[in-house]
Amino acid sequence: MGEITPLPGYGHETDALIVQALGSFAEQLESGIPYLQAALNTHASAPMTGSGLICAVETWEEGLETAFHAPVPSSLPLAAFCPGNTPEEIAASATDLVGQGYKDLKLKVGRMDAAKEAELVQAACAALPPEGSVRIDANQRSSFDHALALCSLLEGYPVAHFEQPFGPHDWEDHSKLAERSTLPILLDESIENLSDIKRAANSGISAVKLKLCKHPGMNATEAMISLTRECDLGVIFGNGVQSALGNHLEARIANACALNTGIESNGFAKMAHSPMEHRLRIAQGRLVDNGLTSPSLDKGEPTLEYTFPIELLSTKRNA
Ligand SMILES: [Mg+2]
Repeated sequence: MGEITPLPGYGHETDALIVQALGSFAEQLESGIPYLQAALNTHASAPMTGSGLICAVETWEEGLETAFHAPVPSSLPLAAFCPGNTPEEIAASATDLVGQGYKDLKLKVGRMDAAKEAELVQAACAALPPEGSVRIDANQRSSFDHALALCSLLEGYPVAHFEQPFGPHDWEDHSKLAERSTLPILLDESIENLSDIKRAANSGISAVKLKLCKHPGMNATEAMISLTRECDLGVIFGNGVQSALGNHLEARIANACALNTGIESNGFAKMAHSPMEHRLRIAQGRLVDNGLTSPSLDKGEPTLEYTFPIELLSTKRNA
């Protein structure tokens, strides 16, 4: 099993495009292309679809116990989204979240003028515990002037990251902002592969956001985290819109890589109905992951009519 995450606006994949991508993946299998090669081909044009397909072969190779049932040994710090449109609302949300044990709060910006937004961020900062920090995410909606003004208004505040102020291809503006601002700039939508990480390191960027749902599987994501560290970049990890399946696989990666900044793998907690039974919960601002259960799969190992070319996998998982 792997999870495919349609997230229009973040990427281009809609439900309909994913169905289409799965159709052409099936055609590749029928024509004799090995599973992993076909999944990598799919990833090139439909990364979210490819990620789910590659996670499926990686977890199949591991077996149910290791892949899904086993608890993640350590709890992991989580960041929390801090909602509100006025300083009062933000202060109330932040106080509530800090009371629940969260130390990293996330605010969306790029929605109103810089002075108003700075007040919201400052209200959240005022509620933080001493070791806490705020991360702000513009989701590409800032103009250069807006971003620069926000940076100068927030100078000296505990803002750990200013995430993706501009479009994914606006490398020059991101670099220019990083040069002129004291806030650390973090890139999310701009980061798709290993060369994007190197480019970020050479552009004055401080950190990158990695998410299993857009990268070609768990092994590749761990390799990206390693490269990020080699490049002396910070890494923020996790996706707030996946279900327990994706969140569990991300928790395993975060644990294996000993990530110690708040991860964002909390989509499972936002869903009215989980697609599978799970033992994930949030306690004291941390993700406690005691694994997944899936009654249909627990009846037996999935049966497959073809053989996976395991030798094509770049590295075997060691966990
Ligand atoms: Mg983001």
